[in-house]
Amino acid sequence: MKIPTRIKMLGRNIKVKFVKDLTRRNDTNGETHYRFDEILIQKNVEGTPRSDTQTGITFLHELLHWSFYVMGEQELNDNEKLVTNMAEVLYQVLAKNDIDLRDGRYSEK
Ligand SMILES: [Zn+2]
Repeated sequence: MKIPTRIKMLGRNIKVKFVKDLTRRNDTNGETHYRFDEILIQKNVEGTPRSDTQTGITFLHELLHWSFYVMGEQELNDNEKLVTNMAEVLYQVLAKNDIDLRDGRYSEK
């Protein structure tokens, strides 16, 4: 999975940053900061090993928080179980299938 450094979402330009000390500092693997338009993800570093799968699921988890936030769905956004389960399902579908939804890549050939 390729994780971009910026995500465009409904007029926002969200930065995606990989940081070394998130787990140690805040006991999290990912964070969403709405005021700063950013997603922070724990890097795979010594002492806090992270697989590509874990990193991908964390990225989607934070992206889902952003999605619920921009939709004004605070109750859904606060439902960590829903966000976690959706991230895991989406990861499985995106990682196990040849899906590319960018413009110009879909055709009816
Ligand atoms: Zn969460």
